[in-house]
Amino acid sequence: MICVAIANQKGGVGKTTTAINLATAMAAIGWRVLLIDLDPQGNASTGLGVRQGDRLHSSYDVLLGEATLAEAAVETRVPLLSIVPATMDLSGAEVEMVGLEDRMHRLKQAMEEAPAGAWEICLLDCPPSLGTLTINALVAAQRLLVPLQCEFFALEGLSQLLQTVERIRVAYNPDLAILGVALTMFDRRNNLSQQVAEDVRACLGSAVFDTVVPRNVRLSEAPSHGLPALIYDLKCPGSEAYLKLAREIVARLPRHAEAEAA
Ligand code: ADP
Ligand code: MG
Repeated sequence: MICVAIANQKGGVGKTTTAINLATAMAAIGWRVLLIDLDPQGNASTGLGVRQGDRLHSSYDVLLGEATLAEAAVETRVPLLSIVPATMDLSGAEVEMVGLEDRMHRLKQAMEEAPAGAWEICLLDCPPSLGTLTINALVAAQRLLVPLQCEFFALEGLSQLLQTVERIRVAYNPDLAILGVALTMFDRRNNLSQQVAEDVRACLGSAVFDTVVPRNVRLSEAPSHGLPALIYDLKCPGSEAYLKLAREIVARLPRHAEAEAA
């Protein structure tokens, strides 16, 4: 199983939208996908239609060692896609884990105990901070996917994120590599959006995916129906972009993962 953290300490840049729709797109092309909601807001869980009452076990329980991934994962309406939901308890987890010596490795340990072959890819939807939850994700993951919103200050904070990645690589997880940067909420009628996209490409080069996710109201409507945009409206430009992004991502993942999925 390859594990991809979707992180950016800025809020509202499209992490959760990317997590939900990429997870759905990967499942649609035949991968067995696990999405882990690591944000106490639980937007990925809600966006995939997991009701509060159905969150018997959560990512909190997994981090605190009170449930295994297999116990906490629930199936979604999307075939091949399961999710470990988040509950508000998670907002206390960072504080509760302070005393634990292995607090940065809790998620990694849970992943290592996951049943072999249950899932081929695991996506981690991170909260908007570089705290213990995001660090757990970066310690557990082999790849980092960074959504960047096409707005002024898009690159602000990125160097801090990359420094954190470097520190985690040295201290805990030498396997961590950048999968890529995905430009989100692109508005082609807006000059600023175009300019930001150009600047980001000039700065980050081939790390930036060719696919650009457009600003598309269908992407923001879908979660209120508890559905990924890919199911809510498969033909909308946002869904098409996430399908295209999924294909680019598959091409960047190691071959053994592809072979396993075949
Ligand atoms: P994050 O998880 O980084 O905080 P979200 O994915 O929750 O960001 O996105 C923030 C808000 O923007 C949400 O209301 C979401 O529905 C909306 N949104 C995200 N991506 C798009 C897009 N490409 N087009 C339109 N709205 C979007
Ligand atoms: Mg989010």
